[in-house]
Amino acid sequence: GLLTGKVALVTGAGRGIGRACALALASEGAAVAVNYSRSEEAAQQVVAAIEAAGGQAVALKADVADPEQVERLFADLLAKYGRLDALVNNAGITRDGLILRMSLEDWNDVVSLNLTGTFLCLKAASRIMLKQRSGRVVNISSTSGVAGNAGQANYSAAKAGVLGLTRSAARELGSRGITVNAVAPGFIATDMTSALELEPILAQVPLRRVGQPEEVAGLVRFLCADPAAAYITGQVITIDGGMVMA
Ligand code: NAD
Repeated sequence: GLLTGKVALVTGAGRGIGRACALALASEGAAVAVNYSRSEEAAQQVVAAIEAAGGQAVALKADVADPEQVERLFADLLAKYGRLDALVNNAGITRDGLILRMSLEDWNDVVSLNLTGTFLCLKAASRIMLKQRSGRVVNISSTSGVAGNAGQANYSAAKAGVLGLTRSAARELGSRGITVNAVAPGFIATDMTSALELEPILAQVPLRRVGQPEEVAGLVRFLCADPAAAYITGQVITIDGGMVMA
């Protein structure tokens, strides 16, 4: 595989896009740390699926919005695998509402996980990757972070913040062989989008369908692959059926 001998950490990997990323990276030979915050059962099922396919994985519990839990997550990771080659900052939540009615709590919760959680994990990973003089970071942003979205001011701001974080980190870490990129999915079929009405969404998507978690995972796997994506850093790659262009 493209990632044989490498170690990857995927946050929020018990389901959805994170789960698909964990499976895709493991299928290329990476040992994968499957982070979860609540459902140990879901994370253990991902681990079992990876092991059943002949791969290596471990489930690691941590709320990645909590600095102390992030410290422990990376300590656990190093205790288990001793290195980190790829970090996928995937954990994310939405708390949708119009600005006029958005509570400070809904603003803070979304920013804490989607933006600050990404920063905390990137910071902890960079300490390891700088010593190794190599590493890949993929931050999951959103088309909402690129183009904005009515009803998602908190989420759009956090996901746009992830793009600034990505570009700054790419500049800081590039000289040590670390790439940092962002992936901006459009509408992907996961629990996050399951309650949304499809018709108005699909009217804006040239390909006239939602995306699948595996399609996002394929892009993430490419960005983690060496040497295929070695010269790509600081980029935002949209995967949205053509909904947002340029
Ligand atoms: P999802 O709700 O299925 O997955 C989110 C995952 O994050 C879950 O496994 C959840 O347990 C985990 N999580 C939540 N809080 C956490 C915390 N504090 N610490 C650690 N993990 C936590 O949704 P998804 O669609 O798979 O979303 C994955 C990522 O993709 C998110 O960052 C989301 O914003 C982004 N995204 C999704 C879409 C989409 O259409 N589904 C579009 C653009 C971006």
